[in-house]
Amino acid sequence: MKNKSLHKYPLVWKKDDFFIKIYSSIPNISTGILLTTEKATFIIDPGDGILRDLSKDVGAITILKVSDIFITHGHHDHIGGVWSLLTYLSVMQKKGELNIYYPKGCMEIESIYKAFIKVYGKELSYKINLKEIKNEKSFQRNSVTVRPFEVNHREVSQEKNISIKIPSLGFKFVYDGKSICYGGDTAYCDSLVKHAKNSDLAIIEAGADKENKLDLHMTIEQASQIGKTAKEYFLVHVPE
Ligand SMILES: [Zn+2]
Ligand SMILES: [Zn+2]
Repeated sequence: MKNKSLHKYPLVWKKDDFFIKIYSSIPNISTGILLTTEKATFIIDPGDGILRDLSKDVGAITILKVSDIFITHGHHDHIGGVWSLLTYLSVMQKKGELNIYYPKGCMEIESIYKAFIKVYGKELSYKINLKEIKNEKSFQRNSVTVRPFEVNHREVSQEKNISIKIPSLGFKFVYDGKSICYGGDTAYCDSLVKHAKNSDLAIIEAGADKENKLDLHMTIEQASQIGKTAKEYFLVHVPE
């Protein structure tokens, strides 16, 4: 409980109409982030509870405006809310398109999508576009420049003491001369160091578990070191 002040949710950051709210970021439990500008409504890492949090906080009108979902990686604490969110949008008769961006090779998202289309495809009121991210090229979405970058997130394989890298991304969102860098889950890595530096807000995971010696997450010291190179930073994903 020592670092309680580091993870009091929701965390909010706002510069004019560039707004981000982290409803939750707890390893092995759930993540959920809303990013908006005057013209954009994005969700990042819709973990379990995202629909409940959005519904309570911003309501159906805003949820129906969501045009893009950004997934950093396929772990359940980052995607557990996808199914209910997609279903809700259909029940509420969302119109238009919904893009889901995810790292190349992220089986979880492709599997959820396939199963979802099988069940609801015929009655779906909107179109889902799966957007596999294969490189680090930036692109524009509703006035926001999105720059994906590869990070180093791993999971322990069946044979203990071996960790395997999984498809995982961080995202940098640039709008109106301001930038937000979100690293997702990662061990200390150069790409995050580079993108967090000088950003207006860096959101850095500090999920290292003291008993786990494998290089899966960052310690609070490592995460703070990166965070301090940005103008402001949040440490997230701290174990509770
Ligand atoms: Zn996680
Ligand atoms: Zn993870």
